Amino acid sequence: MSDGLVVVLGAGAAGFGVIFGSFLNALLFRFNTGKGMGGRSRCMRCNHTLSAFDLVPILSYAYLGGRCRYCGTAISWQYPLVEALAGVVSLGIFFLYPTQPMLYGFWLLVWLTILFIVVYDARHMIIPWSSSLLLLFLSVVSFVLHPVAAVDLSAGVLLALPLFLLSLVSRGRWMGWADSLLELSLGNILGLSLGGTALLLGVWSGALVGLVLIALQRLTPMFGSHKTTERFTIRSEIPFGPYLALGAAIAFFFHVDLFSTISLF
Ligand SMILES: [Zn+2]
Repeated sequence: MSDGLVVVLGAGAAGFGVIFGSFLNALLFRFNTGKGMGGRSRCMRCNHTLSAFDLVPILSYAYLGGRCRYCGTAISWQYPLVEALAGVVSLGIFFLYPTQPMLYGFWLLVWLTILFIVVYDARHMIIPWSSSLLLLFLSVVSFVLHPVAAVDLSAGVLLALPLFLLSLVSRGRWMGWADSLLELSLGNILGLSLGGTALLLGVWSGALVGLVLIALQRLTPMFGSHKTTERFTIRSEIPFGPYLALGAAIAFFFHVDLFSTISLF
């Protein structure tokens, strides 16, 4: 493939991803709210119908300064963030599989599902079962798409087992059932070595952020109202899904494999 073609296709993949991100935003805001996916987009505050110029992914947000053109209400930064992430994810998958459109399409579906799960989890502290089961199904399909060693077939179960035990012991309080189910899918997708790396990176980053939040709260008594204290103690339900997905993204896109590095010594 010539360099020029790579640039054109890469830009196309990024743009394609951004458009999917825009669709994902609509799904995220309307899922389980009873609002259908049809109908014109409206400002959630003033209900003004939005024109095509208000709906250009990323660019409209930047041009409008993050505010509704009609009532000036701040627009959620989730919109440009999800659009940009979907664009980056799509570009990353293109670089992994530049000449395999089937694999590109499959992994794009997988990572958009993961993105949906992560953002929904971060917003609502819960993961819809339908999205968890879709990802589980896709993770099993991924066994067919690439040669899998026997040890990797059991990776999802092995890696998710400790999380499931934590869910079981705490009845879903320390570790949500949906987080365990997410790890099962991620393990299926990544195999044992990359999946183990992803889990470690996820646990470390989650613990780091958790400790920083607790430290911040100790250092700033003004945030120490009853409500915040409850929110950021170690027992609280910090959504773990985003950290598991972050670890998986590092392993999948950058082939970071802590265990292969260790075996070099
Ligand atoms: Zn408005």
